[in-house]
Amino acid sequence: MRVAWTADGGTWHLVFRLDPEDGVTGHCADGAALKLATNTFRVELPRAPRDIHPDLLALTAWTVVAPWTRRRVTFDRPISPELAGAIGDGWGIEAGPTGTTGARSGGRLAISYSGGADSVAVAAMLPDAPFVHFQRVSHPRVPNRWTHYRSDVLASLAEKTGRELTVVRSDLEFTLAEPRPGYPEHHAVAAGALLMADELDLGGLAFGYELGSRWLGGARYIHRYTPDNLMWAPHGAWGRAFAAAGLHIVLPVGGVSEAVTMRLALGSELRGQLRWCLRGVGGPCGTCGKCLYKELIQAAVERRPLRTTITAGRPVARKWQQPPPYGGQEMIEYGCARVPGIEDTVFAAAARYLRATEASTAWLDRCYPPAVAEIPEPWRKQVHDFVDGEIGFMSEEEARRVETWGAR
Ligand SMILES: [Zn+2]
Repeated sequence: MRVAWTADGGTWHLVFRLDPEDGVTGHCADGAALKLATNTFRVELPRAPRDIHPDLLALTAWTVVAPWTRRRVTFDRPISPELAGAIGDGWGIEAGPTGTTGARSGGRLAISYSGGADSVAVAAMLPDAPFVHFQRVSHPRVPNRWTHYRSDVLASLAEKTGRELTVVRSDLEFTLAEPRPGYPEHHAVAAGALLMADELDLGGLAFGYELGSRWLGGARYIHRYTPDNLMWAPHGAWGRAFAAAGLHIVLPVGGVSEAVTMRLALGSELRGQLRWCLRGVGGPCGTCGKCLYKELIQAAVERRPLRTTITAGRPVARKWQQPPPYGGQEMIEYGCARVPGIEDTVFAAAARYLRATEASTAWLDRCYPPAVAEIPEPWRKQVHDFVDGEIGFMSEEEARRVETWGAR
């Protein structure tokens, strides 16, 4: 794989070319098969930044091209031996050329802000941290059949938060043909934060990945305790690559469930700008699978019946008529145990299969302590004190629920 950046004011264009051993079908770190659509993308920064450290340019490119790279990646500027080493150790890929440029570092922590409940919860924990928001825009060479994705609505909600905000627009999701346009690696959402890291003096980037994504395997790895999570553990391949580029991955809500992030988001001053659905304009669409899942969690947190027009026969509700395992199963258990009248909803069958109770899901109301211990030192105390005051930590017995998840 060979990558080359060109800049035109604040707009950075990347062209990448496959080597003979590379293929147009590859795999994301989460295991999903990905098919390449096109070999160019751009990232529009709000202004032309001063110099960008070559490791930041290289890592931005790597978040897009990694799935399709088999043996080596050749960047257009020499990278630090630290970053080359992280790519070599993490992926078994030879990265270069390496130069004499020292490794970079920065001081501030920014939030990769989407506007969903998890990132609003992070914002509540870190009230002074600036936001960097990724906005999808169309690609000149790929038809946009996803016009119902209202990324403009999410960006305008981010503007209304009143926080220090950098909106970065990019078409990089259209490099992916299958399964659909999206981030080739989950970390590509950080493209803007990476390219602005020197300009904003960033040393860390906080993501809204919660307990399920970090420790329980998350959506696509169903039901497995994942301390060595390749994507989000500090010692995982991606954690080490970001650290090598001086932008540490920070997961302030990595130890808490989506019930906790929902509770924090609903109680936040940003509640009015909260939006987890990409489809709605005046509000969430209320009809997609994500809206249904989040409604279950919100109803559980608010201890009220489910409000939805989605019926059991609808395609988005089909999986809840089948036996487990389910993606995000811990939250389905939590919701089924707490929503009054669940037996008369689309989750009735799931509730019968799971037989969860408030007692069996109480661990999901507290924080898994190792998640705070792995936060880089400069920001650990702030997160620890927030968790201590607003959430509370799991007991040893509750922590064992995390560590035995999927063991049966
Ligand atoms: Zn929706």
